[in-house]
Amino acid sequence: MTGKVYLVGSGPGDPELLTVKAKRLIERADVVLHDKLPGPEILESIPETKREDVGKRAGGEWTPQEYTNQRLAELAREGKTIVRLKGGDPFVFGRGGEEAEHLAANEIPFEYVPGITSAIAGPGVAGIPVTHRDHASSVTFVTGHEDPTKDESAIDWDALAKTGGTLVVLMGVGKLPRYTQALLTAEMSPDTPVALVERATWPDQRVACGTLSTIVDVRDREGIEPPAITVIGDVAATRARVQAFLQNERREANEEA
Ligand code: SAH
Repeated sequence: MTGKVYLVGSGPGDPELLTVKAKRLIERADVVLHDKLPGPEILESIPETKREDVGKRAGGEWTPQEYTNQRLAELAREGKTIVRLKGGDPFVFGRGGEEAEHLAANEIPFEYVPGITSAIAGPGVAGIPVTHRDHASSVTFVTGHEDPTKDESAIDWDALAKTGGTLVVLMGVGKLPRYTQALLTAEMSPDTPVALVERATWPDQRVACGTLSTIVDVRDREGIEPPAITVIGDVAATRARVQAFLQNERREANEEA
């Protein structure tokens, strides 16, 4: 009998932010296919014997998506119960959609199990609400991974600069200089508050703040690395007003003033 695949969101990394359902499914699964994004605490809580890493390999290259797709199908055909564990929510820049389509095409039963996305929780744990009645009535989630100078870039930074809402950029550490420049060129104010939230809810979470014109220097000075969320917009200034009460800031020593 064919098994079943659960496309499960782990949340941003704090094991207490796993859903009750995710926790139960991980415990019951025969195999958990994962990458590094669920974070060290969640991954270490899963017995090594049932973990399979389909993230970055030793050589630094990524496991091809085709391999992951095939592996899911193969294990399911062996009758296994599989948890495909993804950081945050599986359907937010997580390629969960592709896996769902692949499983459907191969008639393998699967179920989507939502997770708390870092796109909302990352800013949140840094004291930044992605919307705010006074500051932002819309929020846009974008990937920073694309090259904004490419003609075929799917992201219209010019239009985004004009929406006036909050911009939350995922996978946006490396190309920060490119898209902040694109926004400045589109006449977004250089004083627009920007925050970088690195490894949100992990034991070594860090937050670094600046403005659209200073954030690249802040990133370099603090050595901010992926995974991190970039929040651009007036809401980012909320952090300073609530910071003293952020219970979930585990390492305030790393703070950037
Ligand atoms: N499905 C995930 C996103 C996957 S794309 C989600 O819903 O959260 C990978 C990007 O997610 C990273 O480059 C980073 O921008 C962001 N990300 C994921 N987990 C994060 C975390 N704990 N802290 C900061 N950023 C995170």
